[in-house]
Amino acid sequence: MTNRTSYFYDPDVGNFHYGAGHPMKPHRLSLTHSLVLHYGLYKKMMVFKPYKASQHDMCRFHSEDYIDFLQKVSPNNMQGFTKSLNTFNVGDDCPVFPGLFEFCSRYTGASLQGATQLNHKICDIAINWAGGLHHAKKFEASGFCYVNDIVISILELLKYHPRVLYIDIDIHHGDGVQEAFYLTDRVMTVSFHKYGNYFFPGTGDMYEVGAESGRYYCLNVPLRDGIDDQSEFLPTSQNVIPAVHCGADSLGCDRLGCFNLSIRGHGECVEFVKSFKIPLLVLGGGGYTVRNVARCWTFETSLLLEESISDELPYSEYFEYFAPDFTLHPDVNAVCTETITLQYLEQIRQTVFENLKMLNHAPSVQIHDVPSDMLNYERNDEPDPDERGAEENYTRSASHLKLSQRAASSVTESSCCLCLCVTLV
Ligand SMILES: [Zn+2]
Repeated sequence: MTNRTSYFYDPDVGNFHYGAGHPMKPHRLSLTHSLVLHYGLYKKMMVFKPYKASQHDMCRFHSEDYIDFLQKVSPNNMQGFTKSLNTFNVGDDCPVFPGLFEFCSRYTGASLQGATQLNHKICDIAINWAGGLHHAKKFEASGFCYVNDIVISILELLKYHPRVLYIDIDIHHGDGVQEAFYLTDRVMTVSFHKYGNYFFPGTGDMYEVGAESGRYYCLNVPLRDGIDDQSEFLPTSQNVIPAVHCGADSLGCDRLGCFNLSIRGHGECVEFVKSFKIPLLVLGGGGYTVRNVARCWTFETSLLLEESISDELPYSEYFEYFAPDFTLHPDVNAVCTETITLQYLEQIRQTVFENLKMLNHAPSVQIHDVPSDMLNYERNDEPDPDERGAEENYTRSASHLKLSQRAASSVTESSCCLCLCVTLV
């Protein structure tokens, strides 16, 4: 049976402006939606104009004084809020712009409505490309994010689901979500991100594993620049994780990102998560090369619907954005030169798997019975550790996939719900 998919789109959300020169362009949502329409994908989904989140909804996670401030501040009166702007980290990365609270209310409402529909089994998959603002903290804005729609949606999912698995494939660490659930074993957060050299936000070391009841329910896979489909990201993500945040800033050629994932590679992560067949909330996130964000999220919408779509883009009002090739899958130019060493990846793998194994010893175990021999890579020879793309030098077998599927089935048994944040930096 095919999945019932809900898709949330607010026609006004693409009209908000962070300001001239700011890399975050809500307009990318208009482009995405236009492609979704012109490919005819809307026919396969239930399309909703989303609910708008109230202050009360936002205060399920955020402090009242912070949300109150977001509701009151505007470009015209911000001079009177000097102290608050500082306190709540609003100004530079997270500017005050016309309709700021309205914008937050719309993207948060859509994620929340998606969670509610999953809870009531109205759909199996809920998509909100406007959501996924994973850096927002309880008391402050951060990294272009004001209200953390992910945390608020997960809190909603937890009303009906004992556990939620959160997977974040944005190029930036999902720090706001990790912090919110750091002490609980009911939400496992998994983040694949670039780490090191002061890359924003600076957290997400593999040794951040959760605390108290949440110890080992936080998993970080810190990666270096230039990761691509073949070398590291896909094998690593598929071995480690049965769940994902779909930021589009990990795509090659992103304005801010430095990973070289192709749109197909990014999509494979989404398909992999979908294969767990558990309720799935799919959110957007970063992604600053507007045309590629639209391509990526449109392609991922098609994967979630199991509809194949042509590489040739349909004509739309934004057609000129996709010049010169006008295709869905343009070549990804490698723009990053720093290479990832196999030694470094192996170290990440080992640490991450050690942490996963510790779940066996943690209370309230849900991922269990994963034999350790499936976790080991056997080396056929000794490749040059500095040589990139030598992944073939490892024996890869179906057992690695089995690990993930078994982990996923354990999760399914405990009626887990999945929140995938798909963002491209
Ligand atoms: Zn990002």
